[in-house]
Amino acid sequence: LGGKISAALQKMNNVTVIDQKALQECINEINRALLQSDVSFKLVQSLATNIKKTVDPSDLAAGHNKRKIMQQAVFNELCGLLDPGKPSYTLKKGKQCVVMFVGLQGSGKTTTCTKYAHYHRKKGFKPSLVCADTFRAGAFDQLKQNATKANIPFYGSYTETDPVVIAQLGVEKFKKEGSDLIIVDTSGRHKQEASLFEEMRQVSEVTKPDLIIFVMDSSIGQAAFDQAQAFKQSVPVGAVIITKMDGHAKGGGALSAVAATKSPVIYLGTGEHMDEFEPFDVKPFVSRLLGMGDWSGFMDKIHDVVPMDQQPELLQKLSEGSFTLRIMYEQFQNILKMGPLNQVFSMIPGFSAELMPKGREKESQARIKKFMVMMDSMTNAELDSTNPKLFSEPSRINRIARGSGHRVQDVQEMIDEYKRLSKVWSKMKGLKIPKKGDMSAL
Ligand code: GDP
Ligand code: MG
Repeated sequence: LGGKISAALQKMNNVTVIDQKALQECINEINRALLQSDVSFKLVQSLATNIKKTVDPSDLAAGHNKRKIMQQAVFNELCGLLDPGKPSYTLKKGKQCVVMFVGLQGSGKTTTCTKYAHYHRKKGFKPSLVCADTFRAGAFDQLKQNATKANIPFYGSYTETDPVVIAQLGVEKFKKEGSDLIIVDTSGRHKQEASLFEEMRQVSEVTKPDLIIFVMDSSIGQAAFDQAQAFKQSVPVGAVIITKMDGHAKGGGALSAVAATKSPVIYLGTGEHMDEFEPFDVKPFVSRLLGMGDWSGFMDKIHDVVPMDQQPELLQKLSEGSFTLRIMYEQFQNILKMGPLNQVFSMIPGFSAELMPKGREKESQARIKKFMVMMDSMTNAELDSTNPKLFSEPSRINRIARGSGHRVQDVQEMIDEYKRLSKVWSKMKGLKIPKKGDMSAL
């Protein structure tokens, strides 16, 4: 998509006089590229109308950077489509929330329920899982296996065949036990069937969920809108999770899901493993959709704030794919130097939502500083190692904890952060690094 859009924009740059016709041609090409990325036809149409309204042809006259103006317009429009205008329900620790998951069979509900539980437990919640899927053979075993692995209390039945009864009993049980995040996994069907929607209505009626999350496989293409709408029409969906973003899908379906449910995307599933789950952030997602990579915008900004002479070597190392603790350390230093430049953060791949949640910059900075103190207690060999396995040795972790005056779990947290970032940055391997102002790599 990125390639196609930039080709369309490139053409515009070559035209000296921009008339309505040239603008329309460019928009047509962008439309085609968006459709190929699974953005729904209806959304593409409204996007084109809005671009025509917002882009002033005189801005596109000679002397202006037409490509950048158009690119910004497309970018802003897509960001707008992903913002339903209201945030999703906020969970509160200690308040007994019920969260119900819905979606077609195979969309990733069961996997995502466990990821969601695991993620929130790390944040201090007491999650529990209820398996209200009696449709799929082995559904309970699957949930049981996942829950056991993640060490999360679960409830289900091998004998009860009514999912509504199980859901009710499970929620009651965990309410009594003091769980503050009761997650109800439901069954799916291969197709959008009336019986499924009736079942969802009944389960929702007895469990009275505070939040219903629609789980959607990113690879379903143009079917996204109808599917999301069908669920929204039967139960009050309040949030969306898009799964299998690690596959080939570009993720344009996310825009449809937001439009159909009028609810925000809150997380992305990026693999089968429990930790392959990330909070959703609009701007990096749109960059990825447009093929710009979070990288380009980030680079443009970082050149402005970080002394240039520090960068080439670092960037070189990153494009080689070797992310070490020392690089993380240097990145942290840069981040602290940049101060409250949140815009920059929102563009650094991987850093954004996790490491620097909006509104919690102070705490995040303190956390980064704490990590740096621990890294100061590491040996050069450790800082320069590209082998994360090195840090599965307890004696090493203990030594670093003692040396830096921190707890073992703090060191573990820092190592986990390193592993997470290392994974994100490894995707940068082989990437051409754009120079400041050079957008041709997009
Ligand atoms: P359910 O039928 O909706 O409960 O879906 P499952 O949770 O059973 O998932 C269906 C398949 O998709 C399983 O093989 C999962 O491992 C896989 N899956 C779920 N989420 C992801 C993801 O984010 N990435 C990848 N690659 N696979 C996923
Ligand atoms: Mg399931």
